[in-house]
Amino acid sequence: MVLANIATLLDVDPRELTDWFWVAYTDAFDWVVEPNVLGMGTYATGDLMTTKPYVSGAAYIHRMSDYCSTCGFNPKTDCPLASLYWAFLARHESALKNNPRIRMPMISLKKREKALRNKDRRIFQKVRDILINGDRVTPVHVS
Ligand code: SF4
Repeated sequence: MVLANIATLLDVDPRELTDWFWVAYTDAFDWVVEPNVLGMGTYATGDLMTTKPYVSGAAYIHRMSDYCSTCGFNPKTDCPLASLYWAFLARHESALKNNPRIRMPMISLKKREKALRNKDRRIFQKVRDILINGDRVTPVHVS
């Protein structure tokens, strides 16, 4: 779900991501990969399987895992996932604005300052460009 979250926040094509899971994991089975990645992880099947996109920013990953303790980013200050999360909601605002399951974040998005929304968009583009080039995303590159 962590990988699917990041891929979804970066607008990775759900079918391509699902096919990548098939290739990357020797224990990939159709009854796991297709519904979990295509349906739940990326929201590619809409509300057929889930009622909202399963996306999160840094706070949720920090709370639910121990990944952040060894990461070069700080989940509370400079982690790009926070901006990626808000940029995702902004890009898909028209599709998500009437979804009651994601109402509170959409209200928060509306209140988000324009400068922050611009920063979110800039970080989204920067992270995508870095990854498309095959480079690592580090605090030096994302600021
Ligand atoms: S601080 Fe690092 S591990 Fe934690 S959410 Fe951000 S990128 Fe992921």
